[in-house]
Amino acid sequence: MEKCISMSLGELILKGKNRNQFLRKLISQVEKHIKDLPHGKVYHNMGKVYVEVYENEDLIINRLKHVFGIVYMSPSYRIETDEEKIKEALREILDKELSENSYKTFKVLTKRAYKSYPLNSMEISRNLGAFVLKNYPLKVDVHKPDLNIYLDFKKDYSYIYTKKIRAYGGLPQGTNGRGLLLLSGGIDSPVAGFLMAKRGIALDLLHFHSYPFTSERAEEKVKKLGEIVASYSGKMTMFSVNLLNIQKEINKNCPEDEMTLISRRFMMRIAHSLSEKNSYDAIITGENLGQVASQTIDGLKVTDAITNKLVFRPLIGMDKMDIIRIAEEIGTYETSILPYEDCCTVFLPKHPSLRPRLQDMEKSEENLNIETLVEDAINNMKIIKIGGSNEKE
Ligand code: ATP
Ligand code: MG
Repeated sequence: MEKCISMSLGELILKGKNRNQFLRKLISQVEKHIKDLPHGKVYHNMGKVYVEVYENEDLIINRLKHVFGIVYMSPSYRIETDEEKIKEALREILDKELSENSYKTFKVLTKRAYKSYPLNSMEISRNLGAFVLKNYPLKVDVHKPDLNIYLDFKKDYSYIYTKKIRAYGGLPQGTNGRGLLLLSGGIDSPVAGFLMAKRGIALDLLHFHSYPFTSERAEEKVKKLGEIVASYSGKMTMFSVNLLNIQKEINKNCPEDEMTLISRRFMMRIAHSLSEKNSYDAIITGENLGQVASQTIDGLKVTDAITNKLVFRPLIGMDKMDIIRIAEEIGTYETSILPYEDCCTVFLPKHPSLRPRLQDMEKSEENLNIETLVEDAINNMKIIKIGGSNEKE
């Protein structure tokens, strides 16, 4: 009987033709995330992935929470598929569980993948249940038991466990194209990146600053946010672009109430141009309908008009409360609320335009040398490598 952690894959196992590619990707992700911790084989068997473990089980589980594609994990015992051996394992598990907890009721749940076995899953559960009743002071409760005993009954080897620990689900990293995330220092954009990475998009980052109006500490903060997102989404490149010159030009040549939206249109232009150069499939932002003046329907229309690329706004319909909950959960919140200035606040208009119209913006922008401004900004950008601190080399 060996200890292992079993990983359930949810929708991943439904993915038809791509299934094997997804599985390979997931297994390599698991290996990357625990490379520096002693463990045995990582393998796939009939719909689940397993890693053999000897020690540091909790640490390994915490690391694996950062691997998308896993729905839940269970510290498990692997046993030869033989009902007597399974009972022995059950004895070991129950001795331990009952020495640590005051459980009164239990239930056995068998999933039988070994279809030619003479007993069906109900019968196997019943046999094991009878064994528990005979040897332990526990009663059966099929509705709300204190202790669930799960048995994955498979040919050759079976797995027995009592806990299901939630992971994030989603699809393995990099199985769904590449996206460029517009990452500010706020609460929203790291959450937006996390949510899209969870669907298998590999990310790179684009950040705008207005140095020296914004400080180096503000950039450190954004890098740190990038590192946290990278602990889920893997290594990435961050393009750090100074927007100050563009902002000054807008400030000088365009109406004040259009300042924010014209700046945002430039952000989009730069994102579009980088996407063309580096073949990103999509641009990702943390925009959220109605959150601020620039994110009303009309505001979003004038920014969206810049590009024909897919623009993903995974937070568009969420409440701030829900966004904050995810930020806390994934560990970005504490960093996001550090009070450093943002490039957008440098030239904040007193009264942002409330019903912006595309024709007006385009007219105002005729006063600017758009192409040169965009090119200069890109030519002067800094390229920074961001983490993947969980992926050991
Ligand atoms: P957050 O800053 O967390 O995204 P926010 O409410 O401050 O939230 P805005 O500043 O209006 O939102 O920006 C909306 C979106 O535009 C951000 O989610 C981000 O994707 C992008 N964005 C804004 N400022 C920057 C920036 N300085 N660098 C890169 N992207 C930015
Ligand atoms: Mg912001």
